[in-house]
Amino acid sequence: LRPFCDSGSLRPSPSVRSLATLVVGEPSQSRLSTASLRAISAAEKLESYDPATQRRIDVLLFRSAGSDLQAVAREAAGVEGVTRVLLADDERHAHGLAEVLAPAIVGVVEKYDHQRVVAGGSTFSKNVLPRVAGLLGVQPLSDVIEVVSAREYVRPVYAGNAMVRVELNESGVGAQPCSVMTVRATSFAAAKPRAPSAAGAETVLVTAAVDEALQRMPPPGSEWVSEQATPADRPALESARIVVSGGRGLRDGDHFNELIYALANKMGAAVGATRAAVDSGMCPNDMQVGQTGKIVAPELYVAIGVSGAIQHLAGMRESKVIVAINKDPEAPIFQVADYGLVADLFQAVPELIQKL
Ligand code: FAD
Repeated sequence: LRPFCDSGSLRPSPSVRSLATLVVGEPSQSRLSTASLRAISAAEKLESYDPATQRRIDVLLFRSAGSDLQAVAREAAGVEGVTRVLLADDERHAHGLAEVLAPAIVGVVEKYDHQRVVAGGSTFSKNVLPRVAGLLGVQPLSDVIEVVSAREYVRPVYAGNAMVRVELNESGVGAQPCSVMTVRATSFAAAKPRAPSAAGAETVLVTAAVDEALQRMPPPGSEWVSEQATPADRPALESARIVVSGGRGLRDGDHFNELIYALANKMGAAVGATRAAVDSGMCPNDMQVGQTGKIVAPELYVAIGVSGAIQHLAGMRESKVIVAINKDPEAPIFQVADYGLVADLFQAVPELIQKL
């Protein structure tokens, strides 16, 4: 299957002598995000299949409001497999505007000669990487879950009900043949820190390349106005070991708070929700799990008052142990659940909280 436009010639891999991959890193509270650590290990896997003799993985980090760039850079430099850390320390990038970041990334790709751009699947990369691909004139590949060879990848389609194997045609319209992809973080292990005795990766300031690229671009069509962050007093949804999710069965926001948060607090869990719960105003939309929300694969996923629609399953079916509480024995969530409790959640959950 070749779903990509075939506008140019295939780049003959065997002649490639050096290969450089750019991992676009994302900070998470002054740490390198788990999705980025997993993207680095996906990049290593990609490179291991390539016949190139010289390999390089650069991690690009932008200044980001509310996080300490130097601390994130130090952490990235200490990750196994990373050759260099490229720092774009400029106020213009601090608010994550895709219209500003995308040309900056392209500037770095051109200057430092990368043939691949990889990022962990997240709201950030889903916003930025398609624009990078657009500027480079290539088809972006999203949500890669398996690397089959240097040019073949597996990704889910139809909300995770089928897997498609795609072969990448790396031709682009620009001078630089480059492929651009996001990888599903839950499908790759996080890259490990180097041994304490090993020297860290070199850090390079890329401000000049970024400046040059931004000067070539027309003024961005959007501008940062303000930002409202949800205070993070519990584990982040995408990297939590335990997730408790609530669905429409909770009926309203008061019950959601009273039961789902209380149970999550007892279990030290992150809180997730279905789209129906989000759409009916029970909780904010950054808690949505599923095809159009976040993809999670915790050790334990507890689904309460959730029917188990395919779009929800697409975001959580890879969880190691799934527990469902639903009053309808026919609810599809029971088909994926390891433990199912057919019960009224308004009775079962308070009892569970009390016992815990
Ligand atoms: P419902 O399907 O209404 O289920 C509620 C469940 O609660 C029922 O099974 C019911 O038996 C149970 N219940 C009710 N009362 C009680 C009680 N007292 N005790 C115990 N159980 C009770 N959905 C997502 O979640 N994430 C997505 O990313 C997503 N993306 C989508 C993308 C597209 C393009 C489309 C079309 C849909 C998407 N959806 C998504 C929506 C999805 O199809 C479902 O509508 C949604 O997941 C249903 O949410 P729910 O399970 O909370 O609600």
